[in-house]
Amino acid sequence: MKKNFFVLFFLFTIKLFSQIDALHYNIYIDSIDFDDQLIFCKTTITLDVGINEISEISFDLLSLEIDSVKCENTLCLYNYNDSTLNISGLFVDTVDITIFYHGHPTLDIGGWGGFYFSGDYAFNMGIGIDNIPHNMGRSWFPCIDNFTDKATYDYYITTEISKKAVCGGILIDSTFINLSTIQWHWHNPHPIPAYLASVSVGPYVVWKDTVQGINNIVPIEIYVPNSSLAKVPGSFQNLKSIFHIFEKYYGPYKWSRIGFVGVPFSGGAMEHAMNIAYPIACINGNLAYESLYAHELSHHWFGNLATCESAEEMWINEGWARFSEILYKEKLYGKEEANLLIKNLLSDVLKKAHKVDGGFYPLCDIPQNITYGTTVYDKGALIVNTLRNYLGDSLFFGATKYFLEQFAWSNASCIDIQESFEQYTNIVLNDFFQNYLYHSGTPHYRIDSFNVSHNNEINFIQLYTSQHRYGGDYLTEHDSIEVWLWGANKEMDSLKINTGLQNYFIGFHHAIAPIDVWIDPKQKTADAIINGYAFLKSISNHSIPNTNVIITPTYLEDSLLVFVEHHFIGPHQILKNHPIHRISPNHYWTIHLPYLDNNKVNLKISYNRSYPINIDPSDFYLLPTAASVDSLVLVYRKNSTEPWQIVNFTKTGNQVAGYLTTVNAKAGDYAFAISEPGQSNINDFDNTNYLQIYPNPTNDEFKIIVPTSGFIQIYSMIGDLIFEELIETEITYKILDKGTFLVRFIPCNNTKTFQKLLFVY
Ligand SMILES: [Zn+2]
Repeated sequence: MKKNFFVLFFLFTIKLFSQIDALHYNIYIDSIDFDDQLIFCKTTITLDVGINEISEISFDLLSLEIDSVKCENTLCLYNYNDSTLNISGLFVDTVDITIFYHGHPTLDIGGWGGFYFSGDYAFNMGIGIDNIPHNMGRSWFPCIDNFTDKATYDYYITTEISKKAVCGGILIDSTFINLSTIQWHWHNPHPIPAYLASVSVGPYVVWKDTVQGINNIVPIEIYVPNSSLAKVPGSFQNLKSIFHIFEKYYGPYKWSRIGFVGVPFSGGAMEHAMNIAYPIACINGNLAYESLYAHELSHHWFGNLATCESAEEMWINEGWARFSEILYKEKLYGKEEANLLIKNLLSDVLKKAHKVDGGFYPLCDIPQNITYGTTVYDKGALIVNTLRNYLGDSLFFGATKYFLEQFAWSNASCIDIQESFEQYTNIVLNDFFQNYLYHSGTPHYRIDSFNVSHNNEINFIQLYTSQHRYGGDYLTEHDSIEVWLWGANKEMDSLKINTGLQNYFIGFHHAIAPIDVWIDPKQKTADAIINGYAFLKSISNHSIPNTNVIITPTYLEDSLLVFVEHHFIGPHQILKNHPIHRISPNHYWTIHLPYLDNNKVNLKISYNRSYPINIDPSDFYLLPTAASVDSLVLVYRKNSTEPWQIVNFTKTGNQVAGYLTTVNAKAGDYAFAISEPGQSNINDFDNTNYLQIYPNPTNDEFKIIVPTSGFIQIYSMIGDLIFEELIETEITYKILDKGTFLVRFIPCNNTKTFQKLLFVY
């Protein structure tokens, strides 16, 4: 509801204040001084200012020098503060404003984006990763530099005759200005935002081809230095196939040409419309960088054609472009290749995205300092993939094409995508968007237990599922997830079940009376579990990728099926008066061995107590490195209806990282724990000054004071971690629920952990 209100307000403000619309840019770079890294330019902007006369027009332009400004054909007044150019006059309807300027163009503050000089090359990269706003059209021409103002372009770039200028569009002509200089005129008839305008000047030759598109023959032009020309066919050998894949699933390519231009830049590529700036080093004759150009090409549907309305919704550009890498891999190399990529992305997102990006954020509201971060690209791709599996291919790709037609040459928000997909599919997607896009974190679904009863030879299956969330507290009322039912004779069937609410029950009839039920083994839903399965056929170590688990059969009658789940939440176990003092708050495993019979396996799970700066789940949260690893134990339960108990295990490794191994492992849940308070040097209910809480009891805010930096954790009495933060010396907090809570302090540099009870009334 809040979201809707926000959008209405936004449209309202646009109407009032932003009626100025750039229609067309004529950009002239009349001279480029490579020695002093200067450009001498004029840009004429054709604007629609609306029917009401206005007295000032503003453009974005970064740190260049203004020589003069003409409104229509007469000089007009302006002021310029190195970022905004304000032009005074009386403007109504359509006006042409010409700005004469020169200077040394700037780069993004972090170095990625802006206008570059490098040896014989001068070129722009239209996005600045660290600048806010990110749009960098303003680094080389005055413009309305945002994601929504779209205009057409003509470029007139003058170079010495040993160089060419390559711009986004079609080369109209090249004219000798004199014996030593030549002017290159490029025309782009398609409306684009200023960050997608482009120029690259250098000693280029061109590799040309054409491809038969759905609607027409599309020219392909790849501009490279002569030394790279022979490598183009090797590197781009699948370009046409990838183009056909995107046309098939996203709809016809609407642009005048497919274009790449090699640039001496190693930080990545930039999807300038029809003129993708592409690292010369990546044109190396082989396929190593294929997914890079596939990604940039796919932006000609997502980003360049339908553009995100705001930087906060950049997943519409970048999440879909990364998803396009998965899609082309699947269609070109097969599903296994694509699934591998999906699993690796999920592992990266769960382990690192919140570390790299500094927190868990909703995909539709990403802070601008991480617009181009892991959450937007990788989680964005996984959520697109999850939506695909949620709807099925036919509806998903139909809706994708429908959306791209609806928002072609325009802008879209998250709500626009949701509504467009709803219109096409006739499926209400509010639960999906709330769950995966409008709230931070990742859902965790689990089958806690299942039951099979038989009535007249018909199997009735009851599944008890639970839902938690990693990196947030939202719980969805509805989702749909694939499960596999395994029968006694190794027969298997997959079906989709509804999950929802914190604890959920479904019952259904099925031909298979399952002895084991797996949830989402193909990782079709981006939930907070990394899993993997394998058929073990030899007495050797089998690592299940990304799960931290190695399974080693010690006796095999035949092959053995194993399915491993690594859960990225704690096991939420009641611990009060329990012999296990403390259980891992942030992860555990489920090992499925449906046909174990007489086979025997060892289970080896790695621990890592590294200080959790860059990676999760770190076992630092269970047992800080300052305390001895001797306290770490392996615990087991058959399922979540049974209590945890310590299993026999051996420990290998060092104080920070190593393995706990149990022999003759059974199917069930495994977790790390601390068995006895004494073993872990936990100072229970400590009376010293190490952990002060006041007021205590409290009915409002309370303050926690500690003498050194460390983690504060607050647990409910059923063992749920309800608060955790790394603090320096103090924090003020408030718990809305009433009751008794356990406050734990884990100093970064001490050998003890301290805890106290907190009473809230
Ligand atoms: Zn991209």
